[in-house]
Amino acid sequence: MKFTKYPVLAAALATLAALPACTETKSAAGTETAAATAEIAADSAATATTPTAGNATAASLNNGTPATIPANQRADAATIIARPQVPILCYHQIRNWKSSDSKGAKDYIIPVDQFKAQMKMLADSGYHSILPDQLYAYLATGAPLPSKPVMLTFDDTDLDQFTVARPTLEKYGFKGVYFIMTVSLGRPRYMSKAQVKQLSDEGNVIGSHTWDHHNVKKYQGQDWVTQIEKPTKVLEEITGKKVNYFAYPFGLWNPEAIPELKKRGMDAAFILAEKRDQQDPLFTIRRIIASGYWSPRTLHNSMVQSF
Ligand SMILES: [Zn+2]
Repeated sequence: MKFTKYPVLAAALATLAALPACTETKSAAGTETAAATAEIAADSAATATTPTAGNATAASLNNGTPATIPANQRADAATIIARPQVPILCYHQIRNWKSSDSKGAKDYIIPVDQFKAQMKMLADSGYHSILPDQLYAYLATGAPLPSKPVMLTFDDTDLDQFTVARPTLEKYGFKGVYFIMTVSLGRPRYMSKAQVKQLSDEGNVIGSHTWDHHNVKKYQGQDWVTQIEKPTKVLEEITGKKVNYFAYPFGLWNPEAIPELKKRGMDAAFILAEKRDQQDPLFTIRRIIASGYWSPRTLHNSMVQSF
């Protein structure tokens, strides 16, 4: 079914897709909130033991892409699973709550000051943002990472990721990963193609998040073209770079999806807080949703406990 002929309907669907979408997922955020209720002193963040791969100097860090890593240098699945996980945070909307926002939706809507406080905590605690190529090299080959690595990811193309997250990340020298749902590009409250290009030009990574957020587990035949091939091509045209990372809508995946993603040029894919696939951990890299309810210290607790 093609919605492109019906812009109003498509816009409505995109709006629906962006939020309930994520709220349907048995959430990461919900489970993690419980785990994170114990309070820690904010300054203990500075000494916490988030796994790192070593104290590499910037010069020795691997800056290659997955394509530059020879097959015989890639670790097997068990080795990859055994490496300490890097904390990866997933954000959606970054805006102040409205009275119409449901309790559940607020896990996916982080108030602006809360977001800024979370980023400040990461910076003050000595975290370094890393990008997917670095994570891939670390997982696949054991390449070193900066100390206290964290990955900041943003799903669903929301405009406030450009207007709020971008300058906030910039302030702390962080880079982000933006998983774009292409149906939304240019619509009100979503990013434009030019903004996506700017994010890419500024050193952030643009990843694929399907055309209109349909559940990957339900794809058949042509759906792979509509949801993966075409949107990925669109993003490559916008950025002028290869797009090789994917985030599953709702974090939902199945083993059948992995070869389909590989066939279409993906090198790794991101889920939410569920268990990784034992055969293909690079296609089930875990993230947690950084809830709108989380103070900086709760976020830090969650990072330490979830990865
Ligand atoms: Zn999404």
